[in-house]
Amino acid sequence: MTLGAPLHDLLAALSRAAAPILDLIAPERCGACGDEGALFCTSCRAALLAPGAVSLHPPPQGVRAAATVGSYVDGLDAALRTLKFHGVPQLARPLGAALAAPIAAVTAELEGAAPALVAPILVPTPTDPARRRERGFDHALLLATAAGEATGLRVVELLERTRAVEPLHGLGRAERRRALDRAIAIRPGASALTPLDREALVILVDDIWTSGATFEAAARALTAAGWQHIAAVAVAREPLRERRGTPMGAV
Ligand SMILES: [Zn+2]
Repeated sequence: MTLGAPLHDLLAALSRAAAPILDLIAPERCGACGDEGALFCTSCRAALLAPGAVSLHPPPQGVRAAATVGSYVDGLDAALRTLKFHGVPQLARPLGAALAAPIAAVTAELEGAAPALVAPILVPTPTDPARRRERGFDHALLLATAAGEATGLRVVELLERTRAVEPLHGLGRAERRRALDRAIAIRPGASALTPLDREALVILVDDIWTSGATFEAAARALTAAGWQHIAAVAVAREPLRERRGTPMGAV
């Protein structure tokens, strides 16, 4: 039996009206392990977001220091997928706050490189506008904002995408570099920056560091515009062996 069209429409309307209420009463689930109770459960916080797990990596080209909260495995991957693909932007707060440790690590690594009196600025890597519209939020900006709240550093939306880029998932390093060639530029509105900001250490912020092609494209745009001190932080780094397009055993 099929429902009559008016009844079907009424039920659909009721379900739409109830959705925000259901969201409020539904128990929160941990973005990493899926357990009910909290957006990021205590044990996942301890295991995944502990400052001790932060590691510096050999930086991508054009970047002088780079660090991540952890690896894109074991729960951090699930949390980032939940944030981005399941539409849970609230997860950006704990994940972005955890960026305070890699931010401290790259700042310490480059101590003395940028003038000490100029505070570093956090710059989200720019998201494709079409994907931002689809999701309804900009994950890199949300992560940078949470990191800014945790560190007291200013967030500057300095970069923008100049054109649409095919999804990078599944592409190798060279293909990613080609896809991103001149796809990132300084935003025209960024001219409001002070001369001192141009001396600042720019810390690029992203969710996942896969091949480093996005950081490299951002660094090229910044370097061409005169910035000299560029670092990068991400929540998670994809382990080498899992990077598509990278032959097994390659380093
Ligand atoms: Zn958990």
